[in-house]
Amino acid sequence: MAAEPLRLVEKGSLGTCWYGKYHYVEPWAGCSHGCAYCYARLRTPVTGKLRELGTVFEDPRPLWPADELPRRIAAEVLSQDVRVVKLCRYTDIMNPAFVRSGLTWEILDALARSPVERIIVTTKGLPDERLLALMREHKAKFSYNAAARPAADSALEPHLPPLADRLAAAAALRSAGVQTTIHLDPLVAGIDDEAAKLRPFLDDLRRRGLLRVMFSYLLLSDPILARLRDQLPPRLLDRIVAAYDLTRLDRYLPRDEETAYYSTRPELKHASVDKVAGALRELGFEFVLCSLKSTPGPERGEYRDAKPCDGTFYA
Ligand code: SF4
Repeated sequence: MAAEPLRLVEKGSLGTCWYGKYHYVEPWAGCSHGCAYCYARLRTPVTGKLRELGTVFEDPRPLWPADELPRRIAAEVLSQDVRVVKLCRYTDIMNPAFVRSGLTWEILDALARSPVERIIVTTKGLPDERLLALMREHKAKFSYNAAARPAADSALEPHLPPLADRLAAAAALRSAGVQTTIHLDPLVAGIDDEAAKLRPFLDDLRRRGLLRVMFSYLLLSDPILARLRDQLPPRLLDRIVAAYDLTRLDRYLPRDEETAYYSTRPELKHASVDKVAGALRELGFEFVLCSLKSTPGPERGEYRDAKPCDGTFYA
């Protein structure tokens, strides 16, 4: 079967986050944030488009010429009668080159002025002042989601902007009335949940007034593991690998054979969910556990202490 192409506007499908009741916008192929665990760089819609555009994942290129792109996205959301958009599935809307050039602003501005009712931005990047102003201006339309790990380190995420700056941007949006959620994602059990990392991180969120959290765990595959083996210091690699059951691949999206991943060992994950949920509860956070990235099948619904996301928490 031929691989699906990378489309500018794509309807979510059965089994994806929020059960497909939204559309993804994918303005470009590639991402320069360089996360070692990135699954997007391996997906065939992305690799096919990168080949077509003559580039590599680390050097993202718009799917259309930059001067046409915002207009094309606006036309697509109109023709597909899109109500809710999520940015992005295979890249990050806050890629620094496009924040700097203003293309990110033009795309979000086009969406904000379209009939789309909700614009869900999830990012590890950093919006500039103009982007913050745009989201403040359209605060009823935007949901802002900053993804961050308590054990942030440059081996796993070499090119992310400083965590403090990213959280400051999130806090500024929250205090301006934009719904803002911190995604503790992707967590590695036994590393991100260590009290010495987790507690100061949550205290910092609290001080900044960022009291909404979704959390989810890293998934691995053989190609992701190969990349981690290439890039990580042996000690960190060993600690990550030790947390996974590498004997069992589970398919996360029922209709997508590319979404087979190894998960955290169940006993470790239970202990970790208990720790993270316990700390969040104690500190007064509103939170959910991502249900998409929880192991398919019997494990779903097992976590008594963490409410699973029903897809509406950060919508
Ligand atoms: S920010 Fe997301 S898309 Fe970009 S490299 Fe990291 S995981 Fe991949």
